[in-house]
Amino acid sequence: MTAAGPSGSTPTEVRFLIIGAGFSGLGAGIKLRQAGYDDFVILERADDVGGTWRDNTYPGCRCDVQSNLYSYSFDPKPDWSETYPSQPELWEYLQQAVRKNNLSTYLRFGHEVIEARWDAATRRWQVATTKGQFAARYLIAGVGALVEPSLPDIPGIETFAGTFMHSARWDHGWQPASRRVAVVGTGASSIQIVPSIQPQVEHLTVFQRTAPFVVPHTNHPVRPAVKTMYRLVPGTQRLSRTLAYWLREILAIGFIRNPKILKKAEVAWRKHMESAVADPVMRAQLTPAYDLGCKRVLPSNDFYPAIAKPNVSLVTEKIIEIRPDAVVTADGTVHPVDTLILATGFHVTDNPMLGQICGKEGQPLADAWRSTYLGTVVPGFPNYFHLTGANTGLGHSSMLLMIESQLRYIVDGIAKTQAGGGTFEVRPEVAAAYNAELQRRLGRTVWSSGCSSWYLDSEGRNVTLWPGFTFEFRRRTCEFRTADFVLS
Ligand SMILES: Cc1cc2nc3c(=O)[nH]c(=O)nc-3n(C[C@H](O)[C@H](O)[C@H](O)COP(=O)(O)OP(=O)(O)OC[C@H]3O[C@@H](n4cnc5c(N)ncnc54)[C@H](O)[C@@H]3O)c2cc1C
Repeated sequence: MTAAGPSGSTPTEVRFLIIGAGFSGLGAGIKLRQAGYDDFVILERADDVGGTWRDNTYPGCRCDVQSNLYSYSFDPKPDWSETYPSQPELWEYLQQAVRKNNLSTYLRFGHEVIEARWDAATRRWQVATTKGQFAARYLIAGVGALVEPSLPDIPGIETFAGTFMHSARWDHGWQPASRRVAVVGTGASSIQIVPSIQPQVEHLTVFQRTAPFVVPHTNHPVRPAVKTMYRLVPGTQRLSRTLAYWLREILAIGFIRNPKILKKAEVAWRKHMESAVADPVMRAQLTPAYDLGCKRVLPSNDFYPAIAKPNVSLVTEKIIEIRPDAVVTADGTVHPVDTLILATGFHVTDNPMLGQICGKEGQPLADAWRSTYLGTVVPGFPNYFHLTGANTGLGHSSMLLMIESQLRYIVDGIAKTQAGGGTFEVRPEVAAAYNAELQRRLGRTVWSSGCSSWYLDSEGRNVTLWPGFTFEFRRRTCEFRTADFVLS
């Protein structure tokens, strides 16, 4: 069956439409195929798979979670070269997953979704892309949460005459040698970029708004004997994954139950920082004014040593202006630079994609973001699943745990609702009770201890993180309970 798409053309009709070819969208494709469904396409705006691990190619980019845990549980890779995966290896892992699972024929590159709208008359999602229209009974969005670069609104930024780039749009033609570089921000990407370019640049000025807690990193190469063991006895790799999993779940107690436990980690952090930084002024600048855990805790062994090098300046004054060849701070200092690197994060709670997916009354997903259920289904959005949605983020472990839990829920939901061509819609009262519970619990976590962070929306509400253990999320998503839905 076909119906006219938003622009009047005849849409390509499929049963399932997946948006995004990162871990979420590819995982959805793999799971649909494993469940015996073949009638789907994956729309991806870029020209390759990989999502985060395709876009973030800055020097030093690496995952903060162990390789054995930050990979699909159903697709282990015995030969990770390091215990924490680097961006190139993760990107290759996802390309390999496409080949192993024969996903190529389902992928449509260069297809940016510009609007998705539920059409009650056809009981289909009508989806407009830059390369044509699609219609589908089910829409599965794996559009990512950390995907739209956020650029700071600094007066004069458009006048900058040197090299200008966001960390997620790295310019590989740029050479650091003999450059005077500004890095704006000291979050997760910055602490990886700074030590990677510091040895080569002439001068590096790091502009810090809020000091991060940077703790020791335990990454190291995986020995050949261990790779062989993982290959010959796969249970040993599963054991390593399980150990990493439980150590991280224990860590969650500090974040969600008893933030006082994290005070002990502050002692280890201070030792780490002070062993690399001797200057008392810089030590004070690098000391966070909030509780450890409130913002993302960042692992690195070389950030503090790099910051303490003679060719690096740490500036904590607010930036008030960008000139063609300089950054000006509130104290009137003019910092001459020829390269501006914005490690300023992403539009997370205000992701523009949330304005382009509209429910049955035409309401954008952005308006419904506070009332989603399990971060996966949304009242007023029939036959819609969202991967890594509201309150599915983690401060302590691998996002793959959340994505895989959601995928199981989605496959169960499809199995229970597809017969007869009907629709499902989560009951608003179920979603409301769920969100009230989450917000109550979030109030007791370290993330509510008073810092500002990208976890919070413009009204200070945490719509980003899951306030529990990952096994609780898994339990709650293990079954698509039809009683939670209106089925028609
Ligand atoms: C630098 C960085 C480091 C990170 N480190 C960690 C970590 O250590 N541990 C951890 O658990 N997580 C980490 N994350 C989070 C990471 O994003 C997730 O773990 C995971 O990669 C999310 O996968 P995804 O498929 O949901 O989203 P993404 O990987 O963001 O993929 C989304 C895909 O959707 C596509 N897309 C978006 N909009 C459209 C559209 N309109 N039309 C068509 N296609 C579209 C994008 O092009 C992209 O390919 C990190 C993120 C970043 C940016």
